[in-house]
Amino acid sequence: MATIANNLQLVRNRIQAACAQTGRPADSVTLLAVSKTFPAVTVRDAFHAGQRWFGENYVQEALDKIAELADLREQITWHLIGPLQSNKTRVVAEHFDWVQSVDRLKIAQRLSEQRPAHLPPLQVCIQVNTSGEESKSGVAPGEALALAQAVAALPRLQLRGVMALPAPSPDPAVQAEALAQVRVVFEQLRTAGLPLDVLSMGMSADLEAAVAQGSTMVRVGTALFGQR
Ligand SMILES: *Cc1c(COP(=O)(O)O)cnc(C)c1O
Repeated sequence: MATIANNLQLVRNRIQAACAQTGRPADSVTLLAVSKTFPAVTVRDAFHAGQRWFGENYVQEALDKIAELADLREQITWHLIGPLQSNKTRVVAEHFDWVQSVDRLKIAQRLSEQRPAHLPPLQVCIQVNTSGEESKSGVAPGEALALAQAVAALPRLQLRGVMALPAPSPDPAVQAEALAQVRVVFEQLRTAGLPLDVLSMGMSADLEAAVAQGSTMVRVGTALFGQR
């Protein structure tokens, strides 16, 4: 508990310093705590230390935690940040607040159809893959606008922005370039008239670089909870 509160403070300090360095307001970057592989009790500790936004990668693991933390459901915002298969869209539409990993129209259509009427629209990001690796999820940059426009038209989804997971590089210039490519896609979508406010990029190792490239949401696991 003390450690998580401590780590949260350290990460918040890093975000604040990164914002100051690039002349951005400290509240222009949201911290998403990535709790994958850690138990519900750890999420509860982070909650008590003031954290409210949590990201999960694996649907079943997340559903178990959401159920265990039902007493906090109104106060926690749950984000799915991992790959989503068609057969899992219904439970995701029913239990999550955000899905950041939308990379196919079919998935978005199912989420929209299956989002319960009593809940607010599901908040979504398009996941963009700028590194071009076949194995990775995400739409190619050249296809991002068409997908974003189609997703934005779906009634039960609210398109908020772009998420990416650029391949890490030990070379800061290479890292900055990869992050800048994501920002370019985000700006293209905005220039095309989509009212997007979320650029989700940056993790434990590269959050400063991501903030310098315009990130508005960093997704941090290891620096908060330790090694998985
Ligand atoms: C695991 C994960 C993170 C967090 O990574 P850390 O290096 O532990 O901070 C962020 N985003 C996604 C999509 C992840 O899968």
